[in-house]
Amino acid sequence: MSELRIAIVGFGKIARDQHVGAIAVVQGATLAAVASRNASLPGLPHFATIEELLEQGPPIDAVSLCTPPQVRRAQAATALAAGKHVMLEKPPGIGVAELDPLIAMAAEAKRTLFATWHSRYAPAVEPARQWLATRRLKSVHINWKEDVRVWHPGQTWIWEPGGLGVFDPGINALSILTRILPQPVFVTAAELAFPANCQAPIAANLTLTDIGGLPVTAEFDFRQTGPQSWDILVDTDGGQMKLSRGARIMAVDGKVVADAPDEEYRELYRRFVALTATGMSDVDLAPLRLVADAFLLGKRTLVEPFVD
Ligand code: NAP
Repeated sequence: MSELRIAIVGFGKIARDQHVGAIAVVQGATLAAVASRNASLPGLPHFATIEELLEQGPPIDAVSLCTPPQVRRAQAATALAAGKHVMLEKPPGIGVAELDPLIAMAAEAKRTLFATWHSRYAPAVEPARQWLATRRLKSVHINWKEDVRVWHPGQTWIWEPGGLGVFDPGINALSILTRILPQPVFVTAAELAFPANCQAPIAANLTLTDIGGLPVTAEFDFRQTGPQSWDILVDTDGGQMKLSRGARIMAVDGKVVADAPDEEYRELYRRFVALTATGMSDVDLAPLRLVADAFLLGKRTLVEPFVD
């Protein structure tokens, strides 16, 4: 099998923290170039924009778009038009409908469009899905609270329209939820707290359910200081299952039953390499639809301005 030559576009926090290391160890993947206006990686060809990369860069097969969501649709369209496979960081877009033409372009060109949900590759997600499949679910609660100043320092795009605010991390919880539950869920009510100087919420409470009336609640908050929470609790007829630390750990009635090292981004690139071998796409918009519906249904309150 020939190597998949990948260029990273948008060399910011997640590109540095996860993508470079994952590409380095995944068989069949190789990092060939970087396109970023202000950042580069020593020893690799660098271009300021995706257009320059495609026009003047070394031969590549794929781009991995690690830019903010507001600019990714246009970059994905440019890359697909040039015959490249495309991997999208989450969330896949700033709206749901903007994905449709990209999906069609990828199918037409027989190229892969991979809308990633890295949290779905956390080690306890699949054990949780399997465990829940044989239980009767009574209720679900998501507690996803982190300090935005620690995890997103200086990321002004997150507060702009399409940046999603607290749903930037919150959508990770929803990506896990929509993978582990046996039935699809939908939003019935939402409360969104907007800082007076921001276009995206800093906190949100969601109420969801499924066709059987399962009560699901979610609390997202970007103002958490001290201990951080990335937990999902599910009460069932077989006990309480808890996913913690972003689904790295699964416990049932307090007893840990799954705890493995994080390989989320390696798994993403293994999947990307496998998809590109056949040109298949993988685009699941379920988590983004839930966030879109929260914006549609949400009661809004104004809270104090956010200063980074
Ligand atoms: P980031 O640190 O702000 O990096 C994004 C990079 O994209 C910037 O450094 C910038 O590099 C480039 N960029 C910004 N605005 C641009 C524009 N208007 N046009 C073209 N390029 C632009 O953000 P990040 O944390 O890496 O997040 C990027 C994406 O990854 C987001 O969708 C986020 O949800 C997702 N993600 C982040 C994390 C995390 O822990 N941070 C985890 C998982 C997923 P240049 O200035 O050099 O162009």
